[in-house]
Amino acid sequence: MTYDIVTIDGDGIGPEVNQSAIEVLREACGSALLNFMPFDGGAGHYVKTGHVLPDETLNACRNAHAMLHGAAGLPGVTYADGTEVGNDLHLQLRFKLDLFANVRPIRLYQGVKSTLADWSAGQIDYVIVRENTEGLYASRGAGVNLRNELVTDTLVMTRLGVERVAKFAFDLSRRRNGAPRDHQRRVTVCDKANILKTYAFFRAVCTEVAQSYADVEIDYAYADAITVHMLKKPDFYDVIVAENMFGDIISDLGAATVGGLGMAASAELGLNHGLFQGAHGSAPDIAGQDVASPIATILSGALMLRWLGDRHHDATLSQAADRVEKAVEDVLAHGDAVPHDQGGHARCTEVTQAVCRRLR
Ligand code: ATP
Repeated sequence: MTYDIVTIDGDGIGPEVNQSAIEVLREACGSALLNFMPFDGGAGHYVKTGHVLPDETLNACRNAHAMLHGAAGLPGVTYADGTEVGNDLHLQLRFKLDLFANVRPIRLYQGVKSTLADWSAGQIDYVIVRENTEGLYASRGAGVNLRNELVTDTLVMTRLGVERVAKFAFDLSRRRNGAPRDHQRRVTVCDKANILKTYAFFRAVCTEVAQSYADVEIDYAYADAITVHMLKKPDFYDVIVAENMFGDIISDLGAATVGGLGMAASAELGLNHGLFQGAHGSAPDIAGQDVASPIATILSGALMLRWLGDRHHDATLSQAADRVEKAVEDVLAHGDAVPHDQGGHARCTEVTQAVCRRLR
């Protein structure tokens, strides 16, 4: 079987890191297994054509087995209301393809220095599951600006939306080995249930879902408090489930504890579609210089292989996912190529080559 993968390079460092991931995935899977299909999209494309996500790209995404994306967004390219055009690419894909679970692994690799003192590889290893289609960002494009005097965006939650992301988080915990601290399978519900009805609902529905998972502990943390816990006791976490905006914010914080955004992979999953891109944006400050770290996108590519492997019961893909992760692990642990954001001098292309060498 051949898998059709729509690739959208996007803007800024998007093309560099996406091409890097494609090269690594080709090396891992050979040339016949994955059929990469490049399509347009992003802020640059919007400037040229007026479309951030052209119809042809959306249709191709609907029909493909998976999507791999670099990043989108250019400074100053905004809509009339001031919001950024670039983000609209993945926001539209999230809403139109119902990619409700945004999976963001936070794992400290050997050879990568944590910004937190005294923590080493193996001690920080958890996953943030960010609800991806509701919450505060559901209002994107639909908020009210009344005569430029009164502005509102509405936080939206549905029972179906919370139930499915909670189930996703508990199922994910069952597939893992628990928290590094005590090997306990644990889902931490991150909310502000003490302040808003929506978050109290989020917590209550997660608690209902937990009844069917006796083997997984349920734990609760307010969104402000968890920013402290994630720094002081990161080994306590296994899976954290959070509303859209909170998940967005805490996943950047989590990334900072394991080497920064250049290390942060992401998978956005629905029942029928999967979009894979680094958790970072287009990083315009370092674009076009071959200094971005491709690791986040390469690891997102590995998540793609694992997801496809599970979905299609294809062990070749699952093994390729393991091999890509192992190759990245080895490159970092042995310092084959140390990316700029990790204090080294290896270019994006050099890191890519180093990962490919390990795969060979
Ligand atoms: P968005 O606006 O889409 O939310 P973001 O907040 O994630 O994006 P970015 O611009 O992508 O922001 O990243 C913030 C900074 O982190 C960048 O300016 C860059 O210095 C650094 N950074 C991000 N991604 C990488 C990467 N892959 N390699 C090295 N540095 C990176």
